[in-house]
Amino acid sequence: MHFTIKPVSYLCNLKCDYCFYLPKGSSGILPSGPKVMPDDVLEALVCNYIAACPGDTVYFTWQGGEPLLAGLDFYRQAFALQDKYALRYGKKVENAVQTNATLIDDEWCQLFSQHQVLLGVSIDGPEALHDAWRKNRQGQGSWAQVMAGIDKLKAHNIPFNTLTCINAANYEHPLEVYHFLKSLGSTYWQFSEVVETEPEHVEQSKPLTDYQVKPFSLPATAYGQFMGPLFKQWVRHDIGRIVIRQFESLIACVLGLGHHSCVWENQCPDNMVVEADGTIYECDQTVYPGYQLGNIKDFGPYAQGIACAHDTGKVTVGTRGLDALHSGKLCACKSVLSPKCQACQYLPLCNGGCVKHRIDAVDGVPQSYFCAGYQDFLAQITPYLNVMVQLEQQKVPFTAIKGLIDQIDAAVAGK
Ligand code: SF4
Ligand code: SF4
Repeated sequence: MHFTIKPVSYLCNLKCDYCFYLPKGSSGILPSGPKVMPDDVLEALVCNYIAACPGDTVYFTWQGGEPLLAGLDFYRQAFALQDKYALRYGKKVENAVQTNATLIDDEWCQLFSQHQVLLGVSIDGPEALHDAWRKNRQGQGSWAQVMAGIDKLKAHNIPFNTLTCINAANYEHPLEVYHFLKSLGSTYWQFSEVVETEPEHVEQSKPLTDYQVKPFSLPATAYGQFMGPLFKQWVRHDIGRIVIRQFESLIACVLGLGHHSCVWENQCPDNMVVEADGTIYECDQTVYPGYQLGNIKDFGPYAQGIACAHDTGKVTVGTRGLDALHSGKLCACKSVLSPKCQACQYLPLCNGGCVKHRIDAVDGVPQSYFCAGYQDFLAQITPYLNVMVQLEQQKVPFTAIKGLIDQIDAAVAGK
């Protein structure tokens, strides 16, 4: 179980063209009302989440909208509550914030340092590629503001990860993006393929029969065009030094260790969202009324009124506690595979992709919009994955592949 928390719901100081969360306010999908998580919701969240998490460490991921809009005092209060309940339940807490970085100043950096907050910065590449869609409220590119935030993090020696959306502007420039991200000094990168449609795909069990892909989306066949060259650059030069989540996930999968990225897992893990008003949803990609699981205030010790009084260690209300929540509707969708997926040689790696992306249909069954792009990418990297498996079987770390790239490329070219 993991919660991604939206302390200010969809509010953001930027207005990126491809944002799927910002329109939830104007479309009425999310309620109007207080936009900073109220005190009672925050305390219920911290108390119940820490109590219900099975492991020793509880991971809080703060996201938006732009989560820094909640303000410094909100996080000071959140961290104080974490200290209180972590002590009570004998657990450790770690915090991660996914931010557009434009609001980061010295005061934020001091707070991040003090609480060892892990930063994830959204950035799509060098200025022209980033600014194509990631714009401020005045319609101007946000790159310079993001870089100013990154400079602050660097000045305070705060490590940060990057999240890069692959879209219509940057997919033809994989190596430009690669070298730019490397120049930032971050050693953990994530990539997210963008597709949004008109109408919105609000019911994940059904394909969309008639839709328009929005112009910023990654073309359906282009995933391999971006990720293939990126993989080859990485495996030759930076494997073992830079972690790219999607690549590590595929490598873990072929080594029998399971995926790290839910997009390619064979189920939707319980990676739920807690909105500013406390409503829990099955996933960040399905913040729609049909995917609500309840409200954080109605679960666990907080709801029993014991949280601030004494500790019984119990986390149930009646027979149902927070730890029983499950992304069941999404898991059911994910398990339905089209005939094309069932016959596909890449099924063990891809598992049909994210249910949000299953907007097409094969024989009436939802199919990933990115299927052709995934097949292209997986075909490009299979020779390298096979060598990594062989290395591990010989008890040699898979990162030793770095010294074998010329041989692999020659063998592929000679086929
Ligand atoms: S590559 Fe395409 S056909 Fe193969 S499992 Fe993935 S989505 Fe299905
Ligand atoms: S819907 Fe997509 S993003 Fe959400 S858990 Fe499932 S695969 Fe992951």
